[in-house]
Amino acid sequence: MSLKVCKFGGTSMADGNIILCAAKIVEADEARRYVVVSAPGKRFSGDIKVTDLLYQASAQQEAGDIHGFEDTFEKISARFLSIEREIGKNLGVQAALDEMKAAMLGGAGQDYCVSRGEFVAAHIMAAVLDVPFVDATEFVRFNEDGTLSEETFDLAAKVLKKYPRAVVPGFYGLGFDGKVKTFSRGGGDISGAIVARGVMADLYENWTDVSGFYACDPRIVNSPKCIGELSYQELRELSYMGANVLHSESIFPVRSAGIPIRICNTFRPQDEGTYIVATSSREVGDGVVTGVAGKKDFTVIFLEKSMMNSEIGFVGKVLSVIEKHGVSFEHLPSGIDTMSLVIDNEYLKNGILEKLVAEMKEAVNPDKIYIHEDIALVATVGHGMARNIGTSARLFKALSEAGVNVRMIDQGSSELNIIVGVENEDCASCIRAIYHEFFEN
Ligand code: ASP
Repeated sequence: MSLKVCKFGGTSMADGNIILCAAKIVEADEARRYVVVSAPGKRFSGDIKVTDLLYQASAQQEAGDIHGFEDTFEKISARFLSIEREIGKNLGVQAALDEMKAAMLGGAGQDYCVSRGEFVAAHIMAAVLDVPFVDATEFVRFNEDGTLSEETFDLAAKVLKKYPRAVVPGFYGLGFDGKVKTFSRGGGDISGAIVARGVMADLYENWTDVSGFYACDPRIVNSPKCIGELSYQELRELSYMGANVLHSESIFPVRSAGIPIRICNTFRPQDEGTYIVATSSREVGDGVVTGVAGKKDFTVIFLEKSMMNSEIGFVGKVLSVIEKHGVSFEHLPSGIDTMSLVIDNEYLKNGILEKLVAEMKEAVNPDKIYIHEDIALVATVGHGMARNIGTSARLFKALSEAGVNVRMIDQGSSELNIIVGVENEDCASCIRAIYHEFFEN
């Protein structure tokens, strides 16, 4: 029999009725033996996620704002108690809330506090399904530098082997110091992937509130096409560029084990969704481009020096300047006598940009060095690009017809993507023009 791990995101856990729908989905297929859950998310636009309330309560507790804390904790309690009422069973929520509050007031720390959303949600799901709760702290381990420890996968296999079925809370594990530690926001997807890898699932189903991965951001193009199949690499490129159906780090645990991911919609379980697989089964001519995504707020540092190509160590010296300041770069397009460094604006605050420029001048004495700020990167992604001639010609023609000024071009060596840098304000029209060219023509 095949084995599936289901991860339900915040919107699939947002109220009692949708939790019951999620439980029905699990029960509809015997292969769905392991379930990973997020904390209750938004029920409607303008609603507040339980995790956000927990961050707020923790900050208020730390600041000694006890009235504020009580107020926020009241909201958290109301969310969980109404879920229990909607489910119509005593699930022990009040006792869990009392314990949580005492720990928070006792100074349990931020990570512990914010992890309690998934902790209680997983207890609720376990009670609804009548399946054991297994805490993520039993197997998810972090290194001292905060990265996921490799021992996690063996531990997950060992712990989960004892349970033919289990419900596991997402988003956290045990830190190097033996205390609860969380992933970055949205990290429940990573937990799901860890469980899938631990039990060597045949499929990792990620249940969310959309019917799959769209070929572009639906806030930019109305009802974009849903992608039926996507390779891990394409997904990595698109989610790194801001297409955020899945946490971008959630691919790694399953990718190395070749476990496919399916993105599916808890609100429309009949939809096929998107399959994310190791090797795409698409053929030549099946669709050149898989998706297009963009991310704003980059800075390009452009350097020019004649005979740069023959000056040994030029690039190394430039890179050691940014390394010294702990700055990483996203792209490094280069010409014979030119090179550009594309850097996320986040790294360049508080005078760092000016320092980098001064130190680069000192290190390599360029003929010219200048800065383009407020650049957006737009990635056009698809394995089909390597197999079909004329993709870039179509892309650049479409951009020129849409009046988008291209400031930088970088084609990944794998021919999996073409990245263009445009002004921030042109980002949406750039994405629209590319989508129109490859998906609506
Ligand atoms: N609840 C966490 C968040 O809101 C983690 C998750 O949902 O994956 O970020």
